[in-house]
Amino acid sequence: MEKKKVTLVIPMYYEEKVADECYKRVKENLVKLENYEHEIIFVNDGSKDKTLEILEDIAKEDENVKIISFSRNFGHQAAVTAGLQYVSGDAIIIMDADLQDPPELIPDMLKLWEEGNEVIYGKRKSREGESAFKLFTAKMFYKTLNALSDVEIPKDTGDFRLVDRKVVETINSLPEHNKFLRGLFSWVGYKQYPFEYERKERFAGETKYPLKKMLKLASDGIISFSTKPLKLVGALGIFSIVISVIILIYALLSYAFSWNNLSAGWTSIMVAITFFSGIQLMSIWIIAEYVGRIYDETKRRPQYIVDKKINL
Ligand code: UDP
Ligand code: MG
Repeated sequence: MEKKKVTLVIPMYYEEKVADECYKRVKENLVKLENYEHEIIFVNDGSKDKTLEILEDIAKEDENVKIISFSRNFGHQAAVTAGLQYVSGDAIIIMDADLQDPPELIPDMLKLWEEGNEVIYGKRKSREGESAFKLFTAKMFYKTLNALSDVEIPKDTGDFRLVDRKVVETINSLPEHNKFLRGLFSWVGYKQYPFEYERKERFAGETKYPLKKMLKLASDGIISFSTKPLKLVGALGIFSIVISVIILIYALLSYAFSWNNLSAGWTSIMVAITFFSGIQLMSIWIIAEYVGRIYDETKRRPQYIVDKKINL
């Protein structure tokens, strides 16, 4: 029987404390697979610490280890997107470097793939060692995303998943530059399978997802999967028109029946002006977010720049 091949795609940003252990644990689990060849693609997302050096040393010893190194930090999604461009396996596993996604699950995921599932996505049963703040923001993120989005994006899933080569090729062929992968993997369809697992604590080092990056990921996710915020602008408009009509009727009635003296209406005017200009500015802001992204896409600049490739 001809051997199948499994490819791992692992992004790394300032992961010098984790890189060796990550390779060791992943490799251990890959060599145990009798019916599979393997390759590991590490993507160095512009780390300026020793991450790349460590990876280069590993790649010297192991030709199945391949490295793509970016010219600067382009972000986690860009790093995974880049890795997907270079895969040669039949089944592709995307995994974080920090061992929060246990490599010990690789055989189980492959089994599900052999049974004909095409996207096996990790669903976090529990999340060890993550702050209450992180859990709360993650929950809000999936709630908002699903309320606004036109495709169902399963909650408690990250980017940890096994995907069939066919699905990766579909994703690679999509023309958009700024890819929000966990949304796209759901959007493309195919045979999906939720795979429950315990998310472990980060092996070492700090999270590379500060609030700023989380917010960017969240707005990318919402904006690339929904135009509902734009429609919200319309709803706000209607809402403010209704309010102003009510105020108008109230004012006319006041004059007619001289309920009170409206010339002392400084407060109401100020409230109305600030309220409605607030709504307008907010609406423009929502539109601007879309226009900005349209601008980014039309520039046709690449999502990342590869500085160096090793064993590829
Ligand atoms: N990562 C990356 N580029 C970035 C931020 C993160 O390649 O700009 C990688 C990081 O090295 C890790 C994965 O993305 O392999 C997930 O990041 P992290 O574990 O810090 O996020 P968290 O698990 O805290 O959400
Ligand atoms: Mg992590």
